Amino acid sequence: MTDQGTSTGRIAFLGLGHMGGPMAANLVKGGHEVVGFDPFPAAADAARAHGVEVAGSAEEAAAGASVVLTMLQAGQQVLDLYRGKDGQPGLLAGAAPGTLFLDCSTINVVEAREAATAATDAGHRFVDAPVSGGVVGAEAATLTFMVGGDDADFAAIHPVLELMGKRIVHCGGHGAGQAAKVCNNMILGVSMIAVSEAFVLGEHLGLKDEVLFDVAAHASGQCWALTTNCPVPGPVPTSPANRDYQPGFSGALMAKDLKLALQAIESTGVAAQMGPLASRIYDEFAAAGGAVRDFSGIITDIRDRSSHP
Ligand code: NAD
Repeated sequence: MTDQGTSTGRIAFLGLGHMGGPMAANLVKGGHEVVGFDPFPAAADAARAHGVEVAGSAEEAAAGASVVLTMLQAGQQVLDLYRGKDGQPGLLAGAAPGTLFLDCSTINVVEAREAATAATDAGHRFVDAPVSGGVVGAEAATLTFMVGGDDADFAAIHPVLELMGKRIVHCGGHGAGQAAKVCNNMILGVSMIAVSEAFVLGEHLGLKDEVLFDVAAHASGQCWALTTNCPVPGPVPTSPANRDYQPGFSGALMAKDLKLALQAIESTGVAAQMGPLASRIYDEFAAAGGAVRDFSGIITDIRDRSSHP
């Protein structure tokens, strides 16, 4: 990519939503020419206000770009854009040979590998680079990128990712970034349920939340769900529990990521039990109003379903 002038080349940015908008703005701040597209007019307008040149279609944005970055909600959207649908040719067909397709969306590992095969079969390069860090990290350019791709493409895309994040981890070949993301978020979903159940159990046993926090935060129960995103108000003033569970990381996104974990578990035949259970619990949470709340709001469901202490 560097040999094709990508470090100063044009970047097409497709999907200028909650994450993509601020990420694109950081690329502009870093000196790149960024041509974006999003069918949602408010997203396109917000990006334009941050210096992104807005095109009338994904194809128009991608024309002449050396990197085509996608930040979409689902894998099928990425594949449809790449390969085209309803008789439309798709971006892979129109791009200059050797274009680097960089997908930062969270999608399943199988779809990421399918996208990689489609891109490389068409004479292009592909890197999957899902992120963690949320909208706050996207705005502050402090995202963590989990990257799947070959060594040369990783090295080439690194300077671009550095403008949007502070930790960039090469996880392996195509799909390895998505694999790392899905495993990490399965830990997160399961551990948030465990922490929440422990607080409710403590309450029923007469323990004050602050006391349990004080013990567990310095003992073997310590984890991010407890010490950073604590599901009870008080011990960690910045956690969403202190603002009535406004996200943060929404229940809808946790349910989505656990669904991806479930698909990965089923496709690999791993004898996991907690991941599928967490997936079911977060599906129910999201369906019952938790979709727009922080995922730590699961504790209120557990409390509500428990008999009174
Ligand atoms: P979002 O819905 O805000 O943004 C997606 C955007 O893509 C929308 O604005 C939509 O209009 C646009 N879009 C749809 N089809 C398009 C197309 N064909 N061409 C161009 N744009 C198109 O979602 P988001 O919160 O920004 O999340 C994006 C991805 O990042 C998801 O995969 C999500 O799982 C992942 N993620 C989100 C967070 C978070 O906190 N929001 C954190 C980590 C990872």
